[in-house]
Amino acid sequence: MLSEVNTSLLPYNTFGFDVQATELIKIENKEQLVNLYENGFFKSPFRVISGGSNLLLTQNIQEPILLIRIPGITQKEETDGYVLIEFGAGENWHATVLHCVKNQFFGIENMSLIPGCIGAAPIQNIGAYGTELKDVFHSLSAYNIQTGKFENFDLQQCQFGYRDSFFKQQGKGKYIITSVTLKLSKIAKINTQYGDIQNALIQKNITNPTIKDVSDAVIEIRKSKLPDPAILGNSGSFFKNPVIEKSLAEKIQANHPDLKIFPVSDEWVKIPAAWLIEKSGWKGHKRSHVGVHEKQALVLVHYGGGKGSEIQQLATEIQTDVANKFNVHLEFEVNIW
Ligand code: FAD
Ligand code: NAP
Repeated sequence: MLSEVNTSLLPYNTFGFDVQATELIKIENKEQLVNLYENGFFKSPFRVISGGSNLLLTQNIQEPILLIRIPGITQKEETDGYVLIEFGAGENWHATVLHCVKNQFFGIENMSLIPGCIGAAPIQNIGAYGTELKDVFHSLSAYNIQTGKFENFDLQQCQFGYRDSFFKQQGKGKYIITSVTLKLSKIAKINTQYGDIQNALIQKNITNPTIKDVSDAVIEIRKSKLPDPAILGNSGSFFKNPVIEKSLAEKIQANHPDLKIFPVSDEWVKIPAAWLIEKSGWKGHKRSHVGVHEKQALVLVHYGGGKGSEIQQLATEIQTDVANKFNVHLEFEVNIW
């Protein structure tokens, strides 16, 4: 088992914070987890990292960290209508999308270019441009660190919600996801309802888009709007879009007719966190080593040489300000360590 002691986590977090890990253990197969269990490893606190693209590191990490790098792409079932493919948790998400696009397996093309690994995708039910993981999810395998047994979870057991799942709630810290099986359509199913995708296709004069056209459009839009973590440290959207009572949203909209409201149920609606942050005057804000991205107010950025605590401080100030101005609580999407 490959293990590094007193090592920097700089290459393992997209914010680019240089904190130290006491021990980093690379997990490349399921048997290693069983070995760790048998040696009593899971009786003490530990942490899990995959791509480090949804993490804010605010301090050195004393607990050992498991770096999940389990590979594998296995086609488990195929009919005229769909394929079931099992992906090892350590497979890169975007490479997975490109694999599916190339093979004309429909369903995840709208989630092109999301960083990270597929094993972390169920944790917050990743989503973008009108598609969520749950729309193509079949099942996953996870190691129960309390019993030392592998368990299978189906769609219902994962309790997926908006950027939420069982693994962020009751299952938090109790399971290590080792593989994820997706059910992808072999019959063309394109979802271009999202305004930005429609506009990008119109600009290219594409009226009958292929799966690759949609993936390329998403990649292009994302590259134009979002900072590349290799150049500017960030963890994507720092806050979740709040789901609030319709009456409160309508009250805000009465003073701000430009507020977009997306229905969730009869009584609840989702409103863009980016709008709240921008209206509160934070878009493009810069201080010392950190700031709010100038093109996307949901994205907090690290210009280099700073500390995770500076991002946490900025995020808390934004949270307080938005609550004071709009009476809306912004929840962090990023995991804080
Ligand atoms: P990590 O950051 O390594 O881990 C995230 C959490 O999951 C941690 O709590 C970790 O302990 C836990 N974890 C990781 N792997 C496992 C495992 N195998 N078993 C158990 N627990 C595990 N997200 C979206 O939903 N939509 C987007 O469009 C999107 N765009 C982004 C754009 C940018 C530029 C960036 C930087 C991030 C974006 N994200 C987006 C956030 C992020 O990419 C996703 O949440 C991604 O799924 C995180 O994967 P990861 O492998 O990096 O997870
Ligand atoms: P956008 O298109 O400017 O839209 C702003 C917000 O309005 C989005 O967050 C989106 O919610 C909501 N929205 C827009 N059209 C919608 C529709 N037809 N139905 C329901 N909700 C709608 O957003 P953006 O910032 O450029 O991001 C584009 C997509 O990429 C979004 O889906 C976003 O979630 C995703 N993204 C996520 C991250 C992350 O780290 N989590 C980072 C970058 C981008 P939703 O977020 O629910 O879609």
